Amino acid sequence: MPPFRRVALIGLGLIAGSMALAMRRAGLAESITGHARSAETRAVALEIGLVDSVHATAAGAAAEADLVVLAVPVGAMASIAREIGPHLAPGCIVTDVGSVKQAVIEAVAPHLPAGVHFVPGHPLAGTEHSGPRAGFATLFRNRWCILTPPEDADPQAVARLRALWEAMGANVDLMDAPHHDLVLAVTSHAPHLIAYTMVGVADDLRRVTDSEVIKYSAAGFRDFTRIAASDPTMWRDVFLSNKAATLEILGRFTEELFALQRAIRREDGDHLHAYFTRTRAIRRGIIEAGQDVDAPDFGRSASDRGDSAS
Ligand code: NAP
Repeated sequence: MPPFRRVALIGLGLIAGSMALAMRRAGLAESITGHARSAETRAVALEIGLVDSVHATAAGAAAEADLVVLAVPVGAMASIAREIGPHLAPGCIVTDVGSVKQAVIEAVAPHLPAGVHFVPGHPLAGTEHSGPRAGFATLFRNRWCILTPPEDADPQAVARLRALWEAMGANVDLMDAPHHDLVLAVTSHAPHLIAYTMVGVADDLRRVTDSEVIKYSAAGFRDFTRIAASDPTMWRDVFLSNKAATLEILGRFTEELFALQRAIRREDGDHLHAYFTRTRAIRRGIIEAGQDVDAPDFGRSASDRGDSAS
């Protein structure tokens, strides 16, 4: 694939930073420019070499780019698109990395002029860390990236973006946006809300258990705390913009939880055993699909940190 001439990263955090490093490593961009809200983030991105130049405005970064990546929280997409729309070069590809797709499409598409190709995307890779220093080049390796192009999307633009993600190490799938939002509500959004809740409950109990919550947290709770350390702005926006799908899944979750609660109260061991046998098989399926490793510490070694897809 010929490299993009000028890539503009709007937002310079974990995802954009990882893209910059992965693109540089694979020679996918002749130059990378960027914009972030704060001067401090822009300075760090320049200092650590994520970008060749920075701009104080999103429009300044996006002008003359042949690829623009929107890598800001979902709630900020509309205002960024409104700002950059009039400055985009004809033929430019605009994509995003937002964790929700339908709401982002509704927020961004109306602001893009004809002749600009919008191909929404979502890399299912992340960590609980954020900011420009959190990025690393291998974040997307062997992770899925879902593209949700509209039906009339330019096939060449879609192919080019697919090739870019593949060259950054990802496996690419195409899906329609509502389906993406439902799948992610199950696999990521509802689990994050459950982790936030569980950590909140433990925090409420802290006075009773004192430091035991921390001391014995290896037994399952630790993974909840890791997920619940994720960026508050990003996750607020995810829930507000994937409201219907998340509420649908949480409704089902609550029903299942009540059923398990009833089984415990009635001492229905058969129900519990059958349920846990079914869930264990799901875990095996994830390992067989190469999306995790069967190792203690949940396979989270320093070389494999891209384990928290959102
Ligand atoms: P992040 O590390 O918190 O970085 C967000 C970046 O956006 C920062 O550079 C921030 O700049 C900038 N920003 C925020 N509001 C802005 C605004 N109004 N105008 C301009 N810049 C603004 O976030 P991230 O984890 O990279 O997430 C970025 C996107 O990727 C989100 O849409 C998220 O849903 C999606 N995503 C995240 C993950 C994950 O696990 N983290 C995974 C897949 C997709 P300042 O530093 O100056 O505030």
